[in-house]
Amino acid sequence: MRDFAAELENRKQAGLYRTRRVISGPQQPELVSDGVPLLSFCSNDYLGLASHPDIVRAVNDAMPHTGLGGAASHLICGHHDGHHQLEARLAAFTGRSAALFFSTGYMANMGVISALAGRGDTVFSDRLNHASIIDGCILSRARVRRYPHSDMGALADMLAVTGGHKLVVTDGVFSMDGDIAPLKELADLCRVHDALLVVDDAHGVGVLGPQGRGSVAELGLSEKDVPVLIGTLGKAVGTSGAFVAGPALLMDYLVQKARTYIYTTAMPPAIALATCASLDLIERENSRRSHLQSLIEHFRREATALGYELMPSRTPIQPIMVGDNWTALALSKALEQKGLLVTAIRPPTVPEGEARLRVTFSAAHSTADLEKLLTALAECRPMLKRASAEAV
Ligand code: PMP
Repeated sequence: MRDFAAELENRKQAGLYRTRRVISGPQQPELVSDGVPLLSFCSNDYLGLASHPDIVRAVNDAMPHTGLGGAASHLICGHHDGHHQLEARLAAFTGRSAALFFSTGYMANMGVISALAGRGDTVFSDRLNHASIIDGCILSRARVRRYPHSDMGALADMLAVTGGHKLVVTDGVFSMDGDIAPLKELADLCRVHDALLVVDDAHGVGVLGPQGRGSVAELGLSEKDVPVLIGTLGKAVGTSGAFVAGPALLMDYLVQKARTYIYTTAMPPAIALATCASLDLIERENSRRSHLQSLIEHFRREATALGYELMPSRTPIQPIMVGDNWTALALSKALEQKGLLVTAIRPPTVPEGEARLRVTFSAAHSTADLEKLLTALAECRPMLKRASAEAV
């Protein structure tokens, strides 16, 4: 048998051991973690909708009509009118012909990639794509070619020398760096090389583009440019689940072939109905996005002035680059002692030597919250210098 205990010990020695904290009460910037109140800068609830009263009310209003459980998979008898309504709503929201509601973004990526590519095909995947895309590629049994992050020249060269069916897959907003994929160039390359483009806009939906329609809509790219659009609902949308949107033919194909859609219990329909309420709010209220944007800009100015190294990101994902695992952990701990929750992200989630604090912003943060973070970062700044001096 494998020595699991030794493997865990090795992780601890390398500063890579992960722990969970227990949150009580609603998910919002001021939360209670293991009984201690903290101000959080690490959730993906970018618009502050996870505990919004309208959405909580929508679940409660739906429940007497729908019950709770999904009861069966979609193709048996689980596909409820609530799911059907949400799919129509998502198609309209994304400007696509049709949409499918998946239980999680992880499952959407696994199911879509493995349904649309198979043995003998080639999948081209950005080197910084999310784990669920990587796993979808493996599950597909297609040949996988990883291209350097957002490097369109390298991708063009790879596409040019590859025959057969080709699928290109990318995050819209990269989850650990916060930068946006060169979507227009990707769409052009895919057109030229007859490749199918899949964009996972998990971190763009709700945040970017007109009325929060995402990074693809921000560039005005249509279904022709980006035929397969994936988005999650557990981040800015504030509920749970995910969607794939695109041509009706492809959605029909996925219903037949996407194993993570077919062989799992449908999500509670009340969640689908609450998601419709959330999409209404996202479309209606631009003020959340503009407040979020001003927090991001203010943070970038001040954190840079403090001498922190940031990434070229204009999204709510604002990593502070640290480098080694122990310094990232120490900085995160020092912030926690000052009442702030900012998690350290280490390999394998990010490349070796690129440990960081993944700061994320939410429209639910106030300017005073941001000032608290900046004051704490100013106080902690010498730690980074001392740690890097020690490392030399
Ligand atoms: N895609 C990306 C880019 C992600 O960052 C994540 C989650 N962190 C997912 C997919 C998975 O989505 P979900 O949490 O809904 O499973």
